[in-house]
Amino acid sequence: SAEFGALLLVKDGEISSVVPKEMTEEQQESLKTKSLLLKRAMISKLPAATSKKVADDLHEYPYYIYETVIPVMDPSDDKMIGCLYLARYDEQFDASEKSELNAFANQLAISLLRMRLYRQMQQDRKETAQLINSVRESILYLNYEEESVVGNRAFIRMFDDLQFNYKGYEELADIEIDIEQLAERVDQREHFISYVEHVFDRNPPEEGLSISLDQGDCFLQVYAESIYRDGKLHGTMLVLRDVTAETEIDRMKSELVSTVSHELRTPLSSIYGFTELMLERDLKESRRELYLKTIHDEAKRLSFLVSDFLDLQKMEAGKQTFEWERVDLYELARDSISFYQETTDVHHIHLDADSAQDFTIEADLEGMRQLLGNLLSNAVKYSPDGGNVLVSLERLEGQVVMKVRDNGIGIPSSALPNLFGKFYRVDNSDRRKIGGTGLGLAICKEIAKAHDGHLHVESVYGEGSTFICELPTSKEVVHQ
Ligand code: ADP
Repeated sequence: SAEFGALLLVKDGEISSVVPKEMTEEQQESLKTKSLLLKRAMISKLPAATSKKVADDLHEYPYYIYETVIPVMDPSDDKMIGCLYLARYDEQFDASEKSELNAFANQLAISLLRMRLYRQMQQDRKETAQLINSVRESILYLNYEEESVVGNRAFIRMFDDLQFNYKGYEELADIEIDIEQLAERVDQREHFISYVEHVFDRNPPEEGLSISLDQGDCFLQVYAESIYRDGKLHGTMLVLRDVTAETEIDRMKSELVSTVSHELRTPLSSIYGFTELMLERDLKESRRELYLKTIHDEAKRLSFLVSDFLDLQKMEAGKQTFEWERVDLYELARDSISFYQETTDVHHIHLDADSAQDFTIEADLEGMRQLLGNLLSNAVKYSPDGGNVLVSLERLEGQVVMKVRDNGIGIPSSALPNLFGKFYRVDNSDRRKIGGTGLGLAICKEIAKAHDGHLHVESVYGEGSTFICELPTSKEVVHQ
């Protein structure tokens, strides 16, 4: 029977929103900011009522407006969560109406609290979903009580071929799981199926499981984490952690350790053997000299090996510091050729380049010297019968192409794919006599890469090889 009114929602002692009935915006604003009656009720937390005499020019007789405010209180902590404001003309709210309104306010409190709780729950649910979706590990949660399974975003991405329904960042996807189907891409199928079945049977294994997907394309560490509610097993989180990068690093590390130790063992055991002989036996002068020379050669090889290896490690880790400057490859080639020509009588090293052209590039001088030096020393080394070695320079649009050609022993085509790999040496009895570390070309490749260039080889076994290095004349990106 009220003429107009409003339900005012209160949060932390402030009016947070107004649900009006037959009230203009203006009236609402004035109620919120100016009503003493409302203020009184909010402070005292007790029902309050007034009557106001209204007289204006239109009415012959003055009339009354009766207003009442009933607080809506949270019964648990006695905090105000709302107010009921009602107003009507000419008739007061009597005692029975007031008590009815009080009872209604109590009911309203319960409904409002329930609504608030529901909203809070929704919010919490969204937050949990966001948290779990933001985790990079793939997660499946099996809720034993509700017999439901949900998965996070990473899980759905990992098994995108199974087309689970991803509903967005704020929700976890309901998943209908078919273990056999899930295990299809797993290389250790049986182990994985048995593991997941244990989880489904409410008996999650304590220890984890290492698996791989798609024939070793991706490595996963699987583990199950139980969730208890009131001491009772409520559900289990099945987590699949992508450990591909770590596994790859481990594999590379152990491969490196075994290659390095193998490469070190040969010269070391030779040095050890010969020194032992020299210590224990009384040797002829000529023999002593021969052994000493072997020891010296092996120690030299060892020292080259270590310094090449350290250079390469530095470059691969991006820790090599290059100093960029304008480098004239024509001048560098002339210098290097005369240096290597000094080391041999049976080779003729030539330069083929149009001296009128500009072969200047932006480069690290020492790096370039090392690159060309390695190629030249290989050209000489791998043409043991001597012959011609040709360095050529060619200027193309935005780049200089530098080639080193020899008429040496050449490279079998089967060796070409691995030629630039660390410690790779073509294994044939001929070449065993030619010393080396198998690191020179790997270093050349790294240097070319740091210059945004490209190094490759063309070779005919038994006829000779040409190493081709394409180098841009300037660098867009300045490397460290
Ligand atoms: P190494 O220290 O063994 O010379 P490199 O990395 O410089 O190591 O070269 C790797 C392998 O490639 C060599 O062992 C050799 O078999 C082959 N190779 C390199 N350059 C030439 C070349 N100019 N002619 C023939 N074979 C070559």
